[in-house]
Amino acid sequence: MHEFIKKVKSGEVNLVEHTHKVIKNLKKINKEYHYMNNISEELALKLAEQNKGGRLAGVPVSVKDCLCVKGVESTAGSKVLKGYKPLFNATAVQKVVDEGAIVIGKTAQDEFGFGSFSTNVGIGFDVPLNPFDKERACGGSSGGSAGLTKKADFPHISLSESTGGSIVAPASFCGVPAICPTYGRVSRYGLIDYANSLDKIGVIGKKVQDVALGMEIIAGHDTNESTSLNAPVDSYTDWTKQDVKAKKIAVIKECFSDGVDEAVKNSVWDSIKKLESAGVSYEEISLPNVNKYGVSTYYLIAMSETSTNLAKYCGMRYGAHEKLNGGFNDYFSKVRSENFGKEAKRRVILGTFAQMAGYRDAYYLKAMRVRTKIINEYKSAFKKYSALVSPTMPVLPPKFKDIEKLTPLQNYMMDIMTVGPNLAGLPHMNVNAGMVDGLPVGMQIIGNHLDENRVLQFGGALE
Ligand code: GLN
Repeated sequence: MHEFIKKVKSGEVNLVEHTHKVIKNLKKINKEYHYMNNISEELALKLAEQNKGGRLAGVPVSVKDCLCVKGVESTAGSKVLKGYKPLFNATAVQKVVDEGAIVIGKTAQDEFGFGSFSTNVGIGFDVPLNPFDKERACGGSSGGSAGLTKKADFPHISLSESTGGSIVAPASFCGVPAICPTYGRVSRYGLIDYANSLDKIGVIGKKVQDVALGMEIIAGHDTNESTSLNAPVDSYTDWTKQDVKAKKIAVIKECFSDGVDEAVKNSVWDSIKKLESAGVSYEEISLPNVNKYGVSTYYLIAMSETSTNLAKYCGMRYGAHEKLNGGFNDYFSKVRSENFGKEAKRRVILGTFAQMAGYRDAYYLKAMRVRTKIINEYKSAFKKYSALVSPTMPVLPPKFKDIEKLTPLQNYMMDIMTVGPNLAGLPHMNVNAGMVDGLPVGMQIIGNHLDENRVLQFGGALE
């Protein structure tokens, strides 16, 4: 990607021609693998003609469907938002466009981000297929972003979003690097919310360096978004080349327990040994609260927040609507019954329940207190170590026919490694830890708040 940017700047690449070729290939890939909810051909060619230069000059960038792109249908993978064309760009999108990127379209995802396999797509959407084996899942919820990044035969990064692991999980199953930053590092302005206290925007790319460059560009304070942090942003690309010698990391013991696939454990241990041979020392540590309470805490908070967020899809302001008939409750229920998928309905019901008078103290407020304990557990580990490592996912990319057999609880348990850093708002990345039977294994590297540079440093060293 870095070579390509140089060539665009020197005029060696004809950007309009290149973009035409990219769109052609993208359509071909999409026909076979269903990575795109929408290909923004017109916008891509317009941006190619403008050929603005900049740090991402000419780079094709795909955008998860939950991020608003001006004038391009943005649905967060839900039927309820079909036809919605935002009037503005999300800040992260605007920032890459300002640096010369070519926006090529919106990637497939679980409806509103509700899933770990991209099989919970909204009504009428296609499920993306794993780039290594079409009978297997891409991971989720950013399955389209990760799958396309692997398959793209052109320089490419994808802007993605994670609430509880949706950036690193699909990156792991598709064998590509990706970073989810500290909560607040990237403005959420223009993001179609899943759960506001958890949502982060990050980058999936073909190389750690590509991911670093993307992060460098989208990070930073935004006056449009009050939770965005006003902290200096490093040259992350430079950090990917820094020596890791004499650094100390911790291996999270519980993430190598019996329920985890042997092949996954072995590959991740091989990567840890590689870091060791580069001069990194490691110790094994235990994070009992994260391990025991992470999944239940995460799902209580995420569902509570999302049940509130989804209340705005009532068939009145934008997205799906019908002829006004009867009282508000009937109208509202009809529109939502017809336009939300099964998992969205489940989450609205569970989230509403957890916040009801009489239950709020027992569930939602208790989950908030446990969340603080989880943050403290990580914080004390970071007093001693530069990073914590674990597998990203406990299994190899599963087959669709096996996913169908999972109960909702078994499904949620797949996020056991990723919900912790997401609850704590810690930066974390996926790097490929090798292949087993033709399928990728991912290693997760977790850093302290605002230590994206460190995480990328270890990622760079491994790659
Ligand atoms: N799998 C998790 C969930 O279903 C995380 C998804 C996400 O990060 N958007 O909530």
